[in-house]
Amino acid sequence: MRNKHIYRTICIAILALLWNNISYGQKPQNVIYLIGDGMGFGAVSSLLLSEDDATGFEMAPVIGLNETCSANNYVTDSPAGGTALATGTRTCNGFLGVGPDSVQLESILKKAQKMGKKTGIVVNTTLTEATPGAFYAGVTSRKESYTIAKQFTESGVDIAIGAGLTAFINRPDSIDMTAVLIEKGYNVYLDWKQVINTQSEKFVGILQMSDVHRRNKPSTTTAGAADGAEVCLAAQLAATSADNDTTRFSEPNDYLEKASLKAIEQLSKNAPNGFFLMIESAIIDGYGHNNDGEGMVEEMQEFNRTLKALIKYVNEHPNTLLVVTADHETGGTSIAYKGHAINQPEGMTLSFSTKGHSGTVVPIFAYGMGAEKFAGIFKNKEIPGIIEELIK
Ligand SMILES: [Zn+2]
Repeated sequence: MRNKHIYRTICIAILALLWNNISYGQKPQNVIYLIGDGMGFGAVSSLLLSEDDATGFEMAPVIGLNETCSANNYVTDSPAGGTALATGTRTCNGFLGVGPDSVQLESILKKAQKMGKKTGIVVNTTLTEATPGAFYAGVTSRKESYTIAKQFTESGVDIAIGAGLTAFINRPDSIDMTAVLIEKGYNVYLDWKQVINTQSEKFVGILQMSDVHRRNKPSTTTAGAADGAEVCLAAQLAATSADNDTTRFSEPNDYLEKASLKAIEQLSKNAPNGFFLMIESAIIDGYGHNNDGEGMVEEMQEFNRTLKALIKYVNEHPNTLLVVTADHETGGTSIAYKGHAINQPEGMTLSFSTKGHSGTVVPIFAYGMGAEKFAGIFKNKEIPGIIEELIK
């Protein structure tokens, strides 16, 4: 615990130094928007209490609160939650990238493109899922994955890494959207090794689900989605990703960290106006739906590794703003009293009050240039506007 405090003090001192060196009026060139799907205070607490070393969250000096309601419910689903975080408009549950009037909205990613920034998306779910989709798509149902895939090909995103090949190739219209991407000048990779070794500055990695998310041991819970929440892919993934193929689970999953750093490496080349990168850790939500506390802690550890790597990047590139938040809380997750002593993190028990999402506020953590603007209590829809004000 003592080491943790010393580390935190050093981090704050370094930050203070950095801030003093930033002259008034300078604006961040690069933005990294890290979204933990379903990452509420219960999920964050489970990480903070189970890690002895300082987590990425503790290194972020600016903390805010985010009210996650949708336009028509206290409890948002991922499409409406993603839409608010991406476009600055609260929409109806089920709607993705469009307002309550079904009219397409312009996301902060599209605005960043207009400012001449390169743009990227990294997810550990399908590229056409709700949260990434909110940044480029416009549909009234998340289930329209074929339309979302087509809209992705028109998005102008420079680099994207995720899963979900089916929506691109096994389509009712028989169009091979990977061929469309290649025609538009993208390198399309279906293999992780190609992604991690590429020097391309315009590519789409469409990988297997088992490449982007896996678990060290089989789940003991089944997929759950209650309270009117969608039966989401994340819940199914969280329940099924650890199958009997134990050879796949011999190493910790570091996909999200490596994919994020690869995207940054390639996005920052030939980028005189900087870049905007959205990263989603999607399966925290799934473990919340499944009320799987052990899985949630494991997923938060991967999130933390990614967050720490991003903080290191920002330290080396102080003209970068890192904003971390969630689209909503999932599971009504809390730390339950079970009589376990401190320093026995393995004995920590997570308790859940729902198998769906909850309307509890979620945290915002901000780091780097402009981070101080995120101290306070915000509505989800205010966040992209604050980013836009900072970078325009
Ligand atoms: Zn969900």
